[in-house]
Amino acid sequence: MQCSEPDCDREAAVELDIPWDENRAVCPAHARVLGRQDGVVALPLDGKEDEWP
Ligand SMILES: [Zn+2]
Repeated sequence: MQCSEPDCDREAAVELDIPWDENRAVCPAHARVLGRQDGVVALPLDGKEDEWP
């Protein structure tokens, strides 16, 4: 699966649970930025546990 952020072609490794938006799968770099917002929960995708946190 590819990172859901525009212009990012890295492999998604983290699912973000976003209270005000749909869940999305992103790469670790984007998860680090987006996961910092209040209320956002970042969880590794199945099989990607080694890449997150
Ligand atoms: Zn990304």
